[in-house]
Order: sequence, then structure tokens, then C-alpha cells
Amino acid sequence: MSLTMDTQNIKDLQTLREKFDRATRDLTVLYEVSNAMRMTLDLNHILYIILTSVTSHTGLGFNRGILFLVNHKERCLEPQMAIGPESGEHAQRIWQYISAVKPHLEDLIKEENVALNMERSALFQSVKDLKVPLDPNNPSPLAKAYHDGTPVHITHAQIGQYVTDAFLQRFKTHELVIMPLKAKNKVNGLIVADNLFTQKPITDDELRIFMMLANQAGLAIENANLYELVRYKSHTDSITNLWNHGFFQDQLSKELESARQGNQPLTLLILDIDDFKKLNDTYGHHNGDTVLREIANILKDSSRGNDYACRYGGEEFAVILTQTPQDQGAAIAGRIRARIAECAFHLSPDSDGHKLHVSVSIGVASFPRDAGIKEELIAKADKAMYIAKFSGKNRVCCNQE
Ligand code: GH3
Ligand code: MG
Ligand code: MG
Repeated sequence: MSLTMDTQNIKDLQTLREKFDRATRDLTVLYEVSNAMRMTLDLNHILYIILTSVTSHTGLGFNRGILFLVNHKERCLEPQMAIGPESGEHAQRIWQYISAVKPHLEDLIKEENVALNMERSALFQSVKDLKVPLDPNNPSPLAKAYHDGTPVHITHAQIGQYVTDAFLQRFKTHELVIMPLKAKNKVNGLIVADNLFTQKPITDDELRIFMMLANQAGLAIENANLYELVRYKSHTDSITNLWNHGFFQDQLSKELESARQGNQPLTLLILDIDDFKKLNDTYGHHNGDTVLREIANILKDSSRGNDYACRYGGEEFAVILTQTPQDQGAAIAGRIRARIAECAFHLSPDSDGHKLHVSVSIGVASFPRDAGIKEELIAKADKAMYIAKFSGKNRVCCNQE
């Protein structure tokens, strides 16, 4: 009798002990993850920390995880990042590495791992072009998790119902959980996780801690998005949406430094609208603003991904052309001048819908040909622009000194 009691007591104690260990582990994971997420505002790094927490052995320990973010413009969910082995053999290798090295979460989430993972993840490559529409009639379980704002757990017994689902045709698995990420009660993303390689069933306890982590993750994503928006706004001009003067100065310093290190040329264009005061006086400031916006669009359209079209001041613009020598820069300036001169700018209806022609004068100077430092480069481009003005406007002048 007493032996049975003892056995029962020991069992109870063991259960309590297991619960205690689990709660301690859960708290440690949440604490470590929230600390890690506070260290950065870079969205990709935040996403990497979240997914590492979901998949690492010191985190929630899922085999694979894919993080989707909501694309509000296109009303769909888009995969942003994925972590997980490509095959059973790859999983085995990772497991052996983890057993030998026992890396901590802080080792796994280092910023330099983010780009490496993005480039190499076969799991991410297999899903990255998939978009999940968010219209309410979409039967996808991902769309359902988004609309309901609650996790969807698809068990082994239920997975057969989803054979035609576009996502599950690529993400072959036997059981999974779809966890929405929320900020201020609005879903901004979701994580899909499974245990394909260990075949470990997903328990209610695991779902509970996953939900807690998801709440923190949703807030961290929202913060990173807001930070990015504020940063972008503080660098752009509100009338034209071009980079503003402060950004121009900082970026030109950075680009000159990398041009110097990489032994590459860089060309600076400075543009000034001809007779803009007259245009304002004749047609009003609101039409003047329209012309500024249209010219800004032409500049954006004429520059490549690694060029910077900026509003330098009132009716002056600057374009940083990276990896561009003076002759190529002058050719680009020539095309910009011609496009603006040929453009018929539409005036507002209160100006009889009149169409107007405008011209610009452009100065061109290059690194290292014309100047070795930023101030000198700006002064040379500015001077060339004034020579263009004095020699008749509507033309491009290169620095001749
Ligand atoms: P030039 O051909 O010699 O460049 O003559 P200009 O009339 O263009 O040059 P000026 O420097 O005399 O006048 C610039 C004008 O640009 C004066 C100012 O009212 C106008 N301007 C500056 N910023 C803005 C703006 O944000 N909106 C509008 N509508 N006008 C602006
Ligand atoms: Mg001016
Ligand atoms: Mg002017």
C-alpha cells in the first residue's frame, strides 16, 4: 500500500517538475526573444530573430518556419523569410552541429546571418513568389488565420482536406500550425511552422507559448515598420517625394567614400528650372508645384536603382549618378534636359487646362576627374549650371576647369 502511495507521489512530483521545467523554459525563451527584438529596428533582422526563436532548439524547436507579411496595397500575404532544413539529411547535419556546439540564441541571431539565410534558404526559394490573396472567399487556411486572427492547427487527420491548396502543394507536410502576428488587434503577418523531420505532434502547450511569442513578434514588426516610415519621411521632400537636402548631403559623402574605395567614378548633376519665378507669377504657386512634381517624376524615371534624385532646394535638383564617368553623366543629363523641354505640363483647370513648356539648365561635375572632395564637387557642378544659365539656359554644361 505504502509502496503504491510512494509511486503515486513520485509520479505527481515528476509531473509537477515537468510543468515547472516547461514554464521556466517558456519564460526564458520569451525573455530572450523580447530582449533580442529590442536590440534592433531593422525589419529583416527582427523577422530573422522571430523565425530563429520559433525554430531553434533553445526556442520553440519547430523544424521549419515561414514568415509571411501582409501586403496592404495588393491585399495579399507574401513570404518574407524562411528557416528550416531542406531534407532529412540536412536536418540530421544541423542536429549534429547543435549537439556538438550548443549555440545560444544570441549566437544564432547575429545580423550577418540574415543575408546568408535569405540567399541560401531552399525553403524560402521554394515559396518566395507565392502570393496568398486576402479576399474573404479565399479558402486558403492562411487567409482564414488572417481573417479570424486566431491560430489554425491542421492535424495529421485533417491535412488531406487541403490537397489542392496552392501553398500546401509547395510546403509538403503532415501537420502544421498557422500563427497570426498582431499589433493593436490587426494582423500584420503570420508564421507557418511544422515538424516534418522529427514528426513530433504539435501540442496545446506549444501553441500557447507560440501565441505569446507571436504577440511580441507582431508588435516588433509594427515598430520596425513605423521606424522605417518615419526614417523615410525624414529623408524625403513632401512636395516631390524626392530625397531631401539633408539626405543628399549624407548620401553623397557615403557614395564618394565607396567610389574612392572601389576606384569608381561618380557624376553629380545640378539642375535649376529656367524662369521659374515668371511661371509662378503668371500661373500661381499651385501650378509651380505641379511642375516641380512632374520634373521630379522625370528625374526618378531617368535614374537607375543605385542613383539618387534629390530636391536640392526651391527649384533646384541634384542627381547622384553612381559608377558613372563625366561623359556618360553628360549624356544622361542631355536626355533629362530634352525630356523636360519636350514635356507639355498640364496646368490646373482654373488656368483653362493650359499646357506649358518648361526648360532646365544642368551643370555636370565628376569624381575624381573634376573634384576629389564633396564640397568641391558640388561647387563645380553648381558653377557649370550657372555657365549653362548665362550661355542661354535650356542646356547642359560640364565642368571645364
Ligand atoms: P533662372 O532661370 O535664372 O533660374 O530664373 P528663376 O526665375 O528660375 O530663378 P529665381 O531664383 O529668380 O526664382 C526661383 C523661384 O522658385 C522663386 C520661388 O518663388 C520659386 N520656388 C522655390 N521653391 C518653390 C516651391 O516649392 N514651389 C513653387 N511653386 N515655387 C518655388
Ligand atoms: Mg534657383
Ligand atoms: Mg531657376
